[in-house]
Amino acid sequence: MRVTFATQAAPGRANEDFVAATPDAAVLLDGAGTPPGSDSGCSHGVAWYSHTLGSTLIASISQSAAPLPELLAEAIKTVNSIHEGTCDLTHPGSPSATVIMLRRRNDLIEWLVLADSVLVLDVIGDPEPTVICDDREAQLGARYRAEMDALDSGSHAHVSAHRRYVEALRSHRNRDGGFWVAATDPLAADQALTGTMPADRVRAAALLSDGASRLVDRFHLATWREALDTLDQHGPQDLITRVRAAEHSDPHGERWPRGKTHDDATAAHVSFTATE
Ligand SMILES: [Zn+2]
Repeated sequence: MRVTFATQAAPGRANEDFVAATPDAAVLLDGAGTPPGSDSGCSHGVAWYSHTLGSTLIASISQSAAPLPELLAEAIKTVNSIHEGTCDLTHPGSPSATVIMLRRRNDLIEWLVLADSVLVLDVIGDPEPTVICDDREAQLGARYRAEMDALDSGSHAHVSAHRRYVEALRSHRNRDGGFWVAATDPLAADQALTGTMPADRVRAAALLSDGASRLVDRFHLATWREALDTLDQHGPQDLITRVRAAEHSDPHGERWPRGKTHDDATAAHVSFTATE
């Protein structure tokens, strides 16, 4: 397994995405939950949360053969224990993160996807890649985002509409019928999409935060196949550079309405057939 990755914060902000890999595993997280002016109950912040949870996951995934949801539930509990003495973990806006975990174990590739980061599998013999994304938040969000999408995305009005949007979605977070993310409730791990495939059937995989997958699923400037080819031939940074160029071409979100003009963007490419 050969892994390459790149990550880039939205300009002027801390990177709330996290990516890490071992020779047999990769994890990617995208922190969320606290837009400017919104309370979270946590003094550490979203970047701390996603980086601490991600570091915990990459340590456990490389040391334990336990099922991936079990590792995620344990990691959520571990992070809770680090800040439950100083922070209000019952706050509805406590920091949260999407999670992708991918592991090669024996002859199998195993994955877990929670919330809206995207896992793309290039399956040998299939003309179209297999795209695994948990879109429950986007489905719910469609009910709330009209006001935000109608506004110029550089404006103050858009910033406050985005905050109201995030706060409206909070009431659905980690509840049955709502959407699930890694935050403080370890039961969220059971809500993740999981799967396995024989390792010799998979040529490559891409792990993308929504700030990177937007090239395909929001901007429609590439197909999933083209995104895989870009990652393979030019590397993850090239894909992110293409995302930034598209964002700069539409700074006010007129062509592509979106919550954030720029978002943290992370892409990891895993080749299962590369020979070194
Ligand atoms: Zn905290």
